[in-house]
Amino acid sequence: MKRSDSLIKTYKETPADSDSINAAFLTRASFIEKHAAGVYALLPLGLRVYSKIENIVREEMNAVLGQEILMNVLQPKELWDETDRWNGMSEVMYQFKDARGKDIGLGATHEEQVVDIARHHISSYKDLPLSLYQIQTKFRNEPRAKSGLLRGREFIMKDMYSFHLDDADFKSYYQKVIKAYFRVFERCGISAKLVEASGGVFSEFSHEFQTLSDTGEDTIYYCDKCDFAQNKEIAKVSGGDKCPKCDGKIIEAHSIEVGNIFPLGDKYTKAMNLKVLDKNGKEISPIMGCYGIGLTRVLGTIVEIFHDNDGILWPDSVAPFTVNLISLGKNQTAEKIYASLIDAGVEVLYDDRDDVTAGEKFADADLIGCPIKIVVSERAENAGGVEISDRKKTKTEIVKEDGVLDYIKQLK
Ligand code: ATP
Ligand code: MG
Repeated sequence: MKRSDSLIKTYKETPADSDSINAAFLTRASFIEKHAAGVYALLPLGLRVYSKIENIVREEMNAVLGQEILMNVLQPKELWDETDRWNGMSEVMYQFKDARGKDIGLGATHEEQVVDIARHHISSYKDLPLSLYQIQTKFRNEPRAKSGLLRGREFIMKDMYSFHLDDADFKSYYQKVIKAYFRVFERCGISAKLVEASGGVFSEFSHEFQTLSDTGEDTIYYCDKCDFAQNKEIAKVSGGDKCPKCDGKIIEAHSIEVGNIFPLGDKYTKAMNLKVLDKNGKEISPIMGCYGIGLTRVLGTIVEIFHDNDGILWPDSVAPFTVNLISLGKNQTAEKIYASLIDAGVEVLYDDRDDVTAGEKFADADLIGCPIKIVVSERAENAGGVEISDRKKTKTEIVKEDGVLDYIKQLK
């Protein structure tokens, strides 16, 4: 993409109402735009990163045989009355009357909806296991929307729901999803810990995926040796204690909850009368699990973790562009390199503007945070080529024009 054709407009100053690192950098670099408390639009750069995260999540959910669907956002009260959750959800869910005077709500979670779909389509043990997921905007009337993309009132979530004949099948699937979740977060460049937690409004207990970050609103206790980890809200240990599972030591840390998975048992299938016939012809209520990932929260989390004073440092897998190509002064070399990289399938943001200073272009490159910077300038040309450096500023080299593609490949 040529910068001169793009919507990208950067800001030197941190917006007065940004309350977090991710809101500050993502707004200044024009990835996102705030329109109300906890309500953000994704601009072209933001959507590019978001789409990469979404693809990773989709691939991993498909790999555990999740089938993607897209449920309706408008949900009639009657469905929620079946589980008696309409009133209980009134604080969180946006509920109102439509033009016909009917009670309707905006989807804050989709257990009722997915069970409704399932009961229209499954009737036998042969239909199980079944796993359905969607990637969709969720609406929650969060009393304290804050921390940029980390806690919004509308945000994008992947929510998956699985149905099983018995508890054993559910448990083995739950373990598969845990592994898939670890892969999702690794591929997004953030590692997450599996943490025991309470179930909150939706069920008795749950497992959270928590990414360590000093700016996170959660506090967790984890072992420095084994996989023991608990959210402070249920923890029976504190920092410095001996691990209850091994001889390691408990560490207290702040973290961001990027994912949350819950066993649901037969709570919803029973309440909504979803029954299937087992092998003996006996009616049973399937066992369910639900599995959430906050996609926009993951986007914000990546920025909380990967930044320096000058801007964002995107991991390769989710970077808006791999290369930020900068030309200083109009020159044919930059145009040629741009064309050859695009030909080779490399994602390039080409700063071709001729009305800004070199300093401004460099500052923007740091702020936007593409992993690789290529500078085409007279000075580099005199030194024998173009200047290639990485965003982390660990190396800078002069590379001959015809060696640029190979050099970038080995950098990645
Ligand atoms: P939290 O504990 O942070 O309030 P939750 O437990 O209510 O979230 P779930 O209903 O389990 O969240 O949602 C699954 C995932 O969706 C969470 O792990 C988180 O990544 C994301 N998420 C939840 N609420 C928000 C929000 N208000 N803004 C952005 N992402 C959110
Ligand atoms: Mg949670």
